[in-house]
This record gives sequence, structure tokens and C-alpha cells, in this order.
Amino acid sequence: MGVLSMKGGDGEHSYANNSEAQKSITSDAKPEVVKSVNEMIVKMDFPGCIKVADLGCSSGENTFLVMSEIVNTIITTYQQKGQNPPEIDCCLNDLPDNDFNTTFKLIPSFHEKLKMNVKGKCFVSGSPGSFYTRLFPSKSLHFVHSSFCLHWLSKVPDGLEENKKNVYLRSPCPQNLYESYLNQFKKDFSMFIRMRAEETMPNGRMALTLVGRKTLDPLSKDCFKDWSLVSDSLLDLVSEVLTIIRLLNFFW
Ligand code: SAH
Repeated sequence: MGVLSMKGGDGEHSYANNSEAQKSITSDAKPEVVKSVNEMIVKMDFPGCIKVADLGCSSGENTFLVMSEIVNTIITTYQQKGQNPPEIDCCLNDLPDNDFNTTFKLIPSFHEKLKMNVKGKCFVSGSPGSFYTRLFPSKSLHFVHSSFCLHWLSKVPDGLEENKKNVYLRSPCPQNLYESYLNQFKKDFSMFIRMRAEETMPNGRMALTLVGRKTLDPLSKDCFKDWSLVSDSLLDLVSEVLTIIRLLNFFW
């Protein structure tokens, strides 16, 4: 977790400019998020302050696309009941190495996307840390959102040393490899749920969007296509380097 992070800034290779796929996943999940926020408000009887967290917000505008959807749903739900909108606390979480500054620069355009002028009512803050640990005080969150993040494990699963020519599951691979990934995911996901259970208020809600697969077979080609390209490229690089070393040894 201390090693990997998305590329910051807003340059050609930045996450901010290369996250269209994640953006479209967020927009597919929108109806469920809106429904869930709406139900939460009614169930909690229109609280005076609502605290929302986006876990694994990364850098760029994706987090604000979902946050504006959530805040606009809150505003509309209150207006429909003839109530003044509550104060809204938007907490953006990611690992400490994340480029939060690029995200914070988009706060003014986020405010502009909202259905009413909520300046002085809608606050944005960063909450750096791992979502596999406690991030917020007990029973403080009303709504938790996380999209396209929970496949990031907290550590490399045990026993991957045997998987020499791959960077992920790919047929053929050692029998127990699938279990290694599965066990690590189970441990991490349980920890994530346990932490959020402590932080979320009674009747709070959570919307999680995570990567899945359509087929039951974890070794099906559908599941490792992209990673195969990475493995093959790395193997090519290694064999090129080995060839160069052999040639150098030959000439010297
Ligand atoms: N939700 C964003 C980002 C998805 S990319 C979007 O939809 O575009 C996944 C993000 O999860 C990355 O920014 C990564 O740094 C973050 N992440 C991975 N593991 C994390 C952890 N343990 N705690 C907090 N953030 C994490």
C-alpha cells in the first residue's frame, strides 16, 4: 500500500486523464446510489448534518461526479419535503501518496455542478489513510461510497512465488493460486466491512461497486486478458535483457 499509487497531476499519462472506464462504471451505478441515499435520508428522518465518504477517491474529477450526484440527491430529497438542505460533509479518502491536490483544485467546479448554492453548507476534506483501517470517528458516517477500489488488496497474497511466468491468474497456473488471491480478498474485505461497521451510523448506507467476472471459472480467458498482456510484455523485456547480457558476455 505504501508503494503503489495512481499517477497524479493532469498530464497525458495521469489517472485524471486516463480513467474513462472507471467514470462509466460510476455512471452505471448512479441509479442505485441515488436510491440508497434517498432511502437513508428518509430512514434517518432528515438529519441536520450529513457526512458522506468516497473511499479510494484517487485524483481527478471522478470522485466529484459521484459526490455531486449524492449532494444533489440530498438537496432534492430535502426540497421535496419542504425542508432546508442540511450541512453536508464530503470526505475524500485515498492512500497518503494519492495526489489530493489535483482533486482539491476541482472543488470550485464541483460547487458549480450542485443544484443550489450550497457554499457554507457543503464542505470537502481529504481523509488520507488505508480503508482497511479506521479512518473516521465511531458512528459518524451517514453514507459510504467506493467505486472500483476493493480489488486493491492490502498486501501481496501468500504463495505467489510459484506463479513465475504470470502477474496474475492465468492458465496454466499452480492449483492453489486462486485460493491465495481469494483468501487475501476475504481477509481484506472482512476488515473493510468491520471498520465501516464501526464508523457508520445506525441506518447509514453504503454503495460499493467492485470488479467481478461473468463466468464461474476463475481461469477463464475473460478474467485475465489484460493481465496476460502485462505478463507477456514483462517476459519479452526480461528475455531481451538476457539476450543483451549474453551478447555483452560474449564480446567481453
Ligand atoms: N474511485 C475512483 C478511483 C478508482 S482507482 C474512480 O472511480 O475513478 C482505485 C483507487 O483506490 C486508487 O486511487 C488507489 O490509490 C485507492 N486505494 C487502493 N487501496 C486503497 C486503500 N487500502 N485505502 C484507500 N485507498 C486505496
